Amino acid sequence: MRILVTGGAGFIGGHLAEAFLEDGHDVTVLDNLEPFYAEGIKRHTLDVHREVAEGRAVDYRFVDGDVRDPETVEALVADADVVVHQAAQAGVRESVDNPRKVTDINVDGTVNLLEASKEADVKRVILASSSSVYGKPQSLPYEEDHPTEPVSPYGVTKLTQEHMARVYTELHGLPTVCLRYFTVYGPRMRPNMAISNFVSRCVNGEPPVIYGDGQQTRDFTYVADVVDANRTLLESDAADGDVLNIGSSDNISIQELAETVRDQLAPELEIEYESAREADAEHTHASVAKAGELIGYEPSRTIAEGVGEFIEWYQSNREWYEPLVRES
Ligand code: NAD
Repeated sequence: MRILVTGGAGFIGGHLAEAFLEDGHDVTVLDNLEPFYAEGIKRHTLDVHREVAEGRAVDYRFVDGDVRDPETVEALVADADVVVHQAAQAGVRESVDNPRKVTDINVDGTVNLLEASKEADVKRVILASSSSVYGKPQSLPYEEDHPTEPVSPYGVTKLTQEHMARVYTELHGLPTVCLRYFTVYGPRMRPNMAISNFVSRCVNGEPPVIYGDGQQTRDFTYVADVVDANRTLLESDAADGDVLNIGSSDNISIQELAETVRDQLAPELEIEYESAREADAEHTHASVAKAGELIGYEPSRTIAEGVGEFIEWYQSNREWYEPLVRES
């Protein structure tokens, strides 16, 4: 299969491209190496792709380009069987500061891909959506038909993207699936995320710092589970035209997360607290029943297991990754 992964130099797209290459697919990565966070991680990811592709009978191509450029997008989509769309300006806080940029990339960029895919012979477009589309919970865990009232510009762009995808399915018969990811973590994760910060501080004997009272809860999803869901959807039409939650369905508080990291690395440390940041959702919790039913999705790890694996990866990649976390 020929797969176009947009945002494939990023955290999740990077893991997807790597897995698809391992599975023997031809992969084109389209990414503009947006300097929103440490470019070094993206360069490292592209090196990993080249290593995986080497010695396998697969075509791998990295295109340094922008999803906002319709010509680039059209040319690449014309060569693809499946489009896996991860490129986005992520980050709730960034979207509050920079709403126009976030809308350009997340909405206009998506429309470029959908337009090109409508014209080409694409079998399916799989799009990365987000738990941010839900906003304030009326009931938890979120089921996919929970009302959507995003509380940040980022969430609004992700919801708009979902509606666009649905409309392209309904109007043009283009198969699309949107996956609502819940806080994803794992190797090469964005360095400014809570888990990488907690790990980095504890590894260095410094107390983890919580913003707020630590009672916010999150459904943390190990990146390998996100990969599995996308991998299944390459071949399955079971969720075409639909949205699925992809989470762990096991939400924990930031306090418990900090304790999990601290207990594995430096149990003697006392957790510290600073004031909360704006526009962060208070609670996220995924029901993954629909994804289980339609595509056999099942979260594979507990948070303690996933954190343990991340710590192991962190220790063996500390030399290049840690400075990026410390800078973020
Ligand atoms: P990321 O920032 O690591 O990856 C996004 C990639 O897109 C980056 O490599 C960036 O350079 C690229 N990009 C940005 N603008 C671009 C443009 N205009 N043209 C081409 N490439 C561009 O983020 P991630 O964590 O890997 O997230 C991947 C997707 O999953 C995003 O759509 C994000 O909204 C969604 N998501 C992520 C999480 C999470 O917890 N990481 C949760 C929910 C949803």
